[in-house]
Amino acid sequence: MERIGIYGGTFNPPHAGHIHAAKEAVKALQLDRLLMVPAHITPNKEIPEGTAEPEQRLEMVKLAVQDCPKIEVTDLELKRKGTSYTYQTILELRKQYPKAQLYLLMGTDMFLAFESWREPDIIMANAVIAVLYRGEKGERDAIFAQKEHLEARGGKIRIVKNQVLAISSTNLRRLLAFQCAKPFLAEGTGAYIRECGLYDSAADWKNLPMEELERVVIRLLNPNRVAHVLGCRDTAMDLAKRWGANETDAARAGILHDVTKALDGPLQLTLCREYGTILDDFGQRYPKTLHALTGSLVAERIFGENEAVVSAIRHHTTGRANMSLLEKIIYVADYMEPCRKFQGVEKLRELAYSDIDAALKLGLEMTIENLISREQEISPESRDALAYLNNN
Ligand code: FE
Ligand code: FE
Repeated sequence: MERIGIYGGTFNPPHAGHIHAAKEAVKALQLDRLLMVPAHITPNKEIPEGTAEPEQRLEMVKLAVQDCPKIEVTDLELKRKGTSYTYQTILELRKQYPKAQLYLLMGTDMFLAFESWREPDIIMANAVIAVLYRGEKGERDAIFAQKEHLEARGGKIRIVKNQVLAISSTNLRRLLAFQCAKPFLAEGTGAYIRECGLYDSAADWKNLPMEELERVVIRLLNPNRVAHVLGCRDTAMDLAKRWGANETDAARAGILHDVTKALDGPLQLTLCREYGTILDDFGQRYPKTLHALTGSLVAERIFGENEAVVSAIRHHTTGRANMSLLEKIIYVADYMEPCRKFQGVEKLRELAYSDIDAALKLGLEMTIENLISREQEISPESRDALAYLNNN
């Protein structure tokens, strides 16, 4: 009996994580073929505007799997148009392959929410559910409970250990904008994306006017960070006015300071690697702190910002000895912008307008104290910054 896997998704764009999961599934389930099924519109996930057209997603998947034996692409959901319901796809494939054993691949989130799908019983009557499970302990109980539960309902469930790569399409689109996505894309897919200028991969963001800069950066942030970034920009401008710094530079550094913050530690390291930056010890050990460095690299290379702005972003989390006025302003603005609500923030806000060095010093001291209380390592740059302020 032929064994056919079905792997649906938006594939916006298809990346190394998808291809890796597909190959692993072919092996683990001994599939004769695996059909990648780009969705037209998914019921539970919106496709962001201004990204790829359905035909482009189809083409990108074709290019991504062209050298993968047993993996094919089907346009049946795209042809059907409208919202793509899996049960309809399963019924169509059942008709096309009446004798085959069908395996429907899904991740653990989808599996746990399976009963909220349309017609789960029709799906289970026609296909084995193959759950791609990374092996996280926290999920284990819920997954096996769900397996038992669905089996009692008549389903056949296979749990497939699968080292799904930790990259999401959302983060991949960010990497594309930063021109650092190469390690996660098949060659053909990457070339196609550049040719069509998809996902801002061909955008020229050098010296954007402020309003446009703001719009572009907001798209790259996690939505829950937008208010902080706008607050930091406003505060930085106020402080620049108070202390006679360049207000435009302050606004641009404020808007851009956390531009790479949405990327996790491993992706921070990817950015450093792609930009050819050699990291110090501390950065290698604490990749999460790297967003200041990677943000400054993006500000310089992607947005074409000037040295003063780049340097203010570079030092906004740790500070350093002998900081420029703009560096101080961004450090302090980041600390005290209106969303910040910690004990002592009022004192910092007062100082920021009467003695910026004192405000900076207070910020550094609070950071160091906080790190000590959590038994975390203090960056050498923060130590230097504080020592400098104490000696001058
Ligand atoms: Fe930051
Ligand atoms: Fe920040």
